[in-house]
Amino acid sequence: MSQESTDRTEGDLRNTGMALKHDRTWDYEIERILQAVSERNASTVGLQFPEGLKRRGPRVADDLRAELPDGVRVLISGQPCYGACDLDTEMMRRTDVFVHFGHSPMKESEKIIYVPLFSNVEVTPIMEKSLAELKPPEEEPAVGLVTTAQHMNKFDEMRAWLEERGYEVHVRRGDERLTHEGQVLGCNYASADVDADQVLYVGGGKFHPLGLAMEHPDKTVIIADPVNNVVTIADTEQFMKQRYATVHKAMDAEEWGVIYCTKIGQGRWEIAEEIVENNDSAYLLTMDEVTPDRLTNFGLDAYVNTGCPRITTDDGPQFKQPMVTPQEYRIAIGEEPLEDLAFDTFHGTW
Ligand code: SF4
Repeated sequence: MSQESTDRTEGDLRNTGMALKHDRTWDYEIERILQAVSERNASTVGLQFPEGLKRRGPRVADDLRAELPDGVRVLISGQPCYGACDLDTEMMRRTDVFVHFGHSPMKESEKIIYVPLFSNVEVTPIMEKSLAELKPPEEEPAVGLVTTAQHMNKFDEMRAWLEERGYEVHVRRGDERLTHEGQVLGCNYASADVDADQVLYVGGGKFHPLGLAMEHPDKTVIIADPVNNVVTIADTEQFMKQRYATVHKAMDAEEWGVIYCTKIGQGRWEIAEEIVENNDSAYLLTMDEVTPDRLTNFGLDAYVNTGCPRITTDDGPQFKQPMVTPQEYRIAIGEEPLEDLAFDTFHGTW
């Protein structure tokens, strides 16, 4: 069973400044959820949506309630959600069936039903356009291919399309944080670690490919965005300038807050602990959502975020004090040279 979108459905593009131009049909896999309720004799069903799809939540609950036996209660998580790293564990504990929409599994669990919500946007028209930026196969046959979870259902089609045009397509599965071959996350680009100097990213927005280009500065990253119908080359210059400026400001800090994120897939305890172990002027702060408001009252000079790297790099300018990655902290205190500055990636699960 699927739901037809009657108005524009926005994806989670908070940090890109873009809005989706295409309406989409999402498959909420209602039948699979109903089956799990029946098999588990469940009395509570929890639904968790990413930010861009939260407003679809009540409609999905309507569809479920129309089919569920009397007495089965449907709960919708109001917690913020930006990835499969961000499961509502409290809801998981309180429900017999817990459904996480919009992301592919970071870690499989019998308790969780992941509904990936693949995009139905066609990818080949934008790939056709990307040929203007890709080096031709006679000159440069190797090309890496990556995409996000939303377009994973079209990955074989993308690969075949490039191969038909004479390219050698290099793909790999990253690490255990990634479900599929060729998949990238905002914090993990290990799947682009392939033997090719050009990498084609097929997916919406600049959120992912910018991180990809920073993580792989030796490669040309071509962004083929089928959602907004544009092809661009990832340019990290502006981004790097912003990081250098933040690190410079952090060099003056005397007291540090070291953030340990309590979200299930965003905790890097060893890294956070090591910093406070070696710096008497550093304080370990624990929190789930990392927001400017939550840090204001601590009054510290700078913060190291060991949680989601995108909070640091994309939302960093919203924080009053400098917010740096663990490596940027080491640069700021003089343990590493500034020119080694690299993108903060996150590996493993929990
Ligand atoms: S930690 Fe990674 S997967 Fe989770 S929200 Fe941040 S970028 Fe996305």
